[in-house]
Amino acid sequence: MIKFFNSLTRKKENFSPKYDVVKMYSCGPTVYSYPHIGNMRAYLFMDNIRRVLKYNGYKLDGVMNITDVGHLTSDADEGEDKMLVASKREQKSPWEIAKFYTDIFFNEAKRLNIDLPEHIVPATSVINEIIKFVQGLLDKGYAYITSKGVYFDIEKFSGYGKLGNSIDTKKAGARIDVDDEKHNPADFVLWVKAPKEHIMKWESPWGVGYPGWHIECSVIGDKYLGEYIDIHTGGVDHKTIHHENEIAQSDCLCGHRVVNFWMHVEFLQVDGGKMGKSLNNMYVLDDLQKRGFNPEDFRYFYFNAHYSKQQNFTFEALQGAQNGLKAFKNLVLSHKDGENFIEEKLLENYREEFLDAINDDLNMPKALAVCQKMLKENKSKQVYDLIMDFNKVLGFNFEIKKEIPKEIQKLAQERWEAKQNKDFAKADLFRNEIAKAGYCVKDSKDGYTIE
Ligand code: AMP
Ligand code: ZN
Repeated sequence: MIKFFNSLTRKKENFSPKYDVVKMYSCGPTVYSYPHIGNMRAYLFMDNIRRVLKYNGYKLDGVMNITDVGHLTSDADEGEDKMLVASKREQKSPWEIAKFYTDIFFNEAKRLNIDLPEHIVPATSVINEIIKFVQGLLDKGYAYITSKGVYFDIEKFSGYGKLGNSIDTKKAGARIDVDDEKHNPADFVLWVKAPKEHIMKWESPWGVGYPGWHIECSVIGDKYLGEYIDIHTGGVDHKTIHHENEIAQSDCLCGHRVVNFWMHVEFLQVDGGKMGKSLNNMYVLDDLQKRGFNPEDFRYFYFNAHYSKQQNFTFEALQGAQNGLKAFKNLVLSHKDGENFIEEKLLENYREEFLDAINDDLNMPKALAVCQKMLKENKSKQVYDLIMDFNKVLGFNFEIKKEIPKEIQKLAQERWEAKQNKDFAKADLFRNEIAKAGYCVKDSKDGYTIE
């Protein structure tokens, strides 16, 4: 049985999907800048859940949004649209910005071998559905119109605050000048009436404008997954505003609880503190690569902490992860040609221990410890095969594709020619030369290979 911690009930609960396919929604990137390694922790978390579910035999129907409009510089409806800020900064249209950073996001995900959801949906592709959804909330009396746009009326939803957004933040407008037209300072925008100069805007029954940020996730979830979603993921920063608002929108329109499990990943910190542009510590994968680290080293680093705990990134810790991964891989490969026989029962125990760890709310440090314990067995191909099976969850690349140096290729060719000419003594000399350099030539019917 899989157990996940549910942020909604604040308990570890047994997981089972409502239908036979797991419906999973993950908040995706706002495509206005490079995704940093903190963002990537959130996607590794999603990948971790997806792989664990698949390992347990579940089929998945996953969705992720791409926020290419409407996310303001503050999560709570204040400031400028992040896309427009980037557009001014980079002297490109918001559409070009979105395309550029969406491509980068896909590339970063690929570098980390992240198992992406089945549907990846830009907010701008569902504007008509957003308008319909907002109209639905208006019709049911959960929203109201002001001169600035359409707002959700949180007083109408008794469940507001389920994820921990306290009453205090809803009352006095401590942080901003209160908008007199709003019924409550914490009412949030569903549709924004756009000023003339605004670039990304669409016709709507409430004037030309653009959607608020929170609505896109409710709409994309509804369109692609329907009224019941088994798991919804995101970073902890989204819990008390963005996800609180998503619950309000979705549950009010559908008339019932839409999401069963809310799962949140804690923040990645850098050098014990926040990651920030001004702190000059907002690392992206390229920054790690420049210092000699592979994206996989970061994947291994991710597994060293439980997702519910803050994880502290330092280059020393990443170095530790790199060493750890290298040692792990070498140990795994040392079993590849192992000829010892391991009792099936023992292997079954390891498989169970591994499964128990990953199914216990993704206890990856424990899962890796099980692997390490198993690798201490006598060298055996069975151990190697079982690790390859576990690797469906771990997601490392065990293929070693080393460039064969030119001189070795030349020696191998010369050996081959000597052999063809039946000069076996000369061929053996070449073989010895090649072996001394740490390579081995193997002949086959059609020629030879170098390993
Ligand atoms: P954004 O592109 O800003 O919407 O964020 C994308 C995802 O990254 C969200 O799920 C955030 O909660 C998550 N996130 C942002 N910063 C961090 C961080 N430092 N550590 C972990 N997750 C983060
Ligand atoms: Zn979202």
